Amino acid sequence: MNALGSNVPLKVDRAQLQKDFDALAALTEPGKPWTRRSFTPMFLRGRDYLARRFTEEGLTAHIDAAGNLVGRWAGRNPEAPVLMTGSHSDTVPSGGRFDGIAGILSGLAAIRAMRLTGFQPEHSIDLVDFLAEEPSEWGLSCIGSRGMVGALSADHFAMIGPDSERLDTAITRMGGSPENIAKSIRSDVGAFVEIHIEQGPVLEAEDIPLGIVSGIAGIARVRLRLEGEAGHAGTVPMSMRADAGMAMARLMLALRDAARAEADRGRGHFTATIGVMKLEPNGANVVPGAAEAVVDIRAENDAAMEDYLATIATLVKAAATAEGCRVAATERLSRTFAVACDARLQALIRDAAEIHGFATRPLASGAGHDAAFIARIAPAAMIFVPSKSGISHAPEEWTDTEAIARAADVLALTLSTLDQRPLAPAA
Ligand SMILES: [Zn+2]
Repeated sequence: MNALGSNVPLKVDRAQLQKDFDALAALTEPGKPWTRRSFTPMFLRGRDYLARRFTEEGLTAHIDAAGNLVGRWAGRNPEAPVLMTGSHSDTVPSGGRFDGIAGILSGLAAIRAMRLTGFQPEHSIDLVDFLAEEPSEWGLSCIGSRGMVGALSADHFAMIGPDSERLDTAITRMGGSPENIAKSIRSDVGAFVEIHIEQGPVLEAEDIPLGIVSGIAGIARVRLRLEGEAGHAGTVPMSMRADAGMAMARLMLALRDAARAEADRGRGHFTATIGVMKLEPNGANVVPGAAEAVVDIRAENDAAMEDYLATIATLVKAAATAEGCRVAATERLSRTFAVACDARLQALIRDAAEIHGFATRPLASGAGHDAAFIARIAPAAMIFVPSKSGISHAPEEWTDTEAIARAADVLALTLSTLDQRPLAPAA
């Protein structure tokens, strides 16, 4: 017999889940599917729908100080730590119908399923739509989850977005109260579980329905600038060039090879990507005099990240020297650290999936998520569902409702099991 008083594992209502996905998909900027940018009127229409659905499923909905929409199923013991689930309802421009929203709607489906059994939790359960998880027009992402854990500073509030609006003003416009944010930092959360689409190809390729996230990668970005000698493409002999473009080409391959070697070392998920590269003066008939690139590095293991960052200096020097060029800049633009998911929560999720008969595999998240911030105040974990062809942040993003429903089935069992355990917020 499980926590919900039945031997049969509880299944969420697939038809209702589909209805909710369809309703949210309809709330998109016209001609630009599927777009619901944070802080826009369309975003607020999505929120209105969610708030109404939260209420229909018996939750008490409110907007917290950081502008998050929170639906609460009050527990029998108001003193007990809160169980939390959720994700985000905003999208990137022309993003998808599943990134973020899958975590809110599966949370709602799990709560609906539990309520319909007559189950009454001991712990309150919060379902959260975190404000602006995607990079916003203010140049900041994960605004709501940062705010919930006390990671929004006065500098953040002063960031300027469209129409010269300050971020704190925009949060107020969303129903938040930035002036109360310091005293609203949550210290009552006992566990957080976020369902999200994988946004990568692994689960589909291996035909595994659920990924249990081991950790969320740390991210570093480094700007590289190589300088040589610009010259006429027709008159400077091949033997007399200092071609900064060629030096960058060598460097790109060397960085890729070093990243492959690190990924093969078995220290967890590791990627390095050069997605921005420019040549100067960038003319078809000119030998490039300078080349600049930004390398994006993601590592589940902070030591692996440090080793790679240390290697970059050597590789840059070698590539420049080989082409008679010089290193003009190796500048670290940003660096965040990896976040490990809670081992006990991972085990609980694995057990719940097993009861349902769903195969799982551990998987690192190479993308950032609200869970990375919530992990600062509570044990946190994530469940990934397969993304068709690994595509995300694009209109083609797709995950079957059934795949998300399975994660919601597992979430319902995980939450009801957690409800019977003593819980404590993160130290
Ligand atoms: Zn997302």
